[in-house]
Amino acid sequence: MKTSKARGFNTARDWYHECVLLHVLKSLEKRNFAASYFQTIDAMNKNLLKIIPRSATVGVGGSVTIRELGILEKLEKRGNTVFHHWKKGLTETTDREMRIQEGQADYYLTSANAITLDGDIINIDGIGNRVAAMIYGPQNVIITVGYNKIVSSIDDGMRRSKDIAAVMNAKRIDAKTPCATTGICVDCNAKHRICRVTTIIQYRPWQTNISVMLVNKELGF
Ligand code: SF4
Repeated sequence: MKTSKARGFNTARDWYHECVLLHVLKSLEKRNFAASYFQTIDAMNKNLLKIIPRSATVGVGGSVTIRELGILEKLEKRGNTVFHHWKKGLTETTDREMRIQEGQADYYLTSANAITLDGDIINIDGIGNRVAAMIYGPQNVIITVGYNKIVSSIDDGMRRSKDIAAVMNAKRIDAKTPCATTGICVDCNAKHRICRVTTIIQYRPWQTNISVMLVNKELGF
């Protein structure tokens, strides 16, 4: 029997995540999504830059994953117009206008809160602009996902969306919610609750090109 010392811990870890991600890739293809797999963030970024034309406008949802990729800086540097509401100095009015522009861009970049092994894409939003844009609006939607977002079932995906993604997001924005203090979701009824719209995209909606790029890294919340 080969020992963990001989094979290496990371080798086993990478192998496992690759197996799971390739399984999800096949499931997504059965649901009519385009799907691709990348070993590294660099490889995925190169693919994004190849697919998105330099002349295209790009909208971005409130996604930590997309920021962690560093792709926005690369797109802007080469001349793409990027709409995203995390830009500093937006007022309540210009924030709303920016979210609308994001949803009308040629390409929309986002992640997901969870994707099941069967290919269900699960998200919970506070406003709903991200899930609206993912479903209908931009001609092209690209969802980038690290292995940490993969779950076994829709129930697990709903749980992950709240217990992990929403709680971390509440902390990130310093929301006045119980979870931002305790780190635990209590399915609150707080005035500033951030979990307000839940979607499960089960098959690619007609009229939208949704592609999912899976990467063998931990990314986002
Ligand atoms: S405590 Fe409230 S805001 Fe926080 S994750 Fe749960 S439902 Fe969402």
